[in-house]
Amino acid sequence: MSKNSHLGHQAKKRFGQNFLNNDAVISNIVDAINPEPGENLVEIGPGLGALTEPVVERAGDLAVVELDRDLAHRLRHHPFLAKHLTIHEIDALKFDFAQLSDVDNPLRIFGNLPYNISTPLIFHLLTFKDKVKDMHFMLQKEVVQRMAAGENCKAYGRLSIMTQYQCQVIPVMEIGPEHFTPAPKVDSAIVRLIPHKEIKHPVKDLKFLNQVCLTAFNQRRKTIRNSFKKLVSADELEQLGIDPSLRPENISLEQYVNIANFIADRPNEPTE
Ligand code: SAH
Repeated sequence: MSKNSHLGHQAKKRFGQNFLNNDAVISNIVDAINPEPGENLVEIGPGLGALTEPVVERAGDLAVVELDRDLAHRLRHHPFLAKHLTIHEIDALKFDFAQLSDVDNPLRIFGNLPYNISTPLIFHLLTFKDKVKDMHFMLQKEVVQRMAAGENCKAYGRLSIMTQYQCQVIPVMEIGPEHFTPAPKVDSAIVRLIPHKEIKHPVKDLKFLNQVCLTAFNQRRKTIRNSFKKLVSADELEQLGIDPSLRPENISLEQYVNIANFIADRPNEPTE
């Protein structure tokens, strides 16, 4: 049997398939998710059901989103799981998670995500954050570190700011490559994301926060006086109480929000 084969399924690289293979590790992950009966649970990329089975055993029925038609077919015919699952055979990046939401029962989303799409997928999921109670994801360890990093850290960047603006980020555990078949080339970690119920210091428009972060971290070695030249002048930064000689990694989330709001409020330049 090939080393990339698990439970008779040949793993497909293009779908980022790395299947969990260790019952103790799986059990720890499910403990961290802590699924309860009656919750609105959604799994992305159930694959061969490594997490799905213990979650169904503890909590009952759930919705799953699986892109691989062979795996979706297997799940539909699975002797134990089939009757407990609502299977959405679709790309999670295109899936409208709002259709699963219920005002009285917010979504609890989890999954061992394909690493090649994890960042865009999390940004997609965050657009539904008002309908989400929490999310647990297996990601590349460095991605979890970037999400959780605070200012003045090397890992601090756009992903830290955009994620922490919208949710609490809690790294839960690290998982070595040997616990997957096939083994990925990177270390993995589980992160818990809990959307903020209320944002204390809100942006007027998230797109400006994103733009400011992109501009800043595109040239992370430059001072913000230089990298922001086209967006805000050094004088304007000083008006906002921000030292223009700092580098992007020294600027707090709140200061990024202030810069984004300053840009949002500024009247458009006359175009002539
Ligand atoms: N949860 C399983 C499988 C993880 S591998 C386990 O832990 O063992 C990642 C899974 O995500 C695979 O089942 C893969 O087919 C699925 N997948 C990949 N891209 C996807 C996408 N865009 N939308 C939904 N599922 C996807």
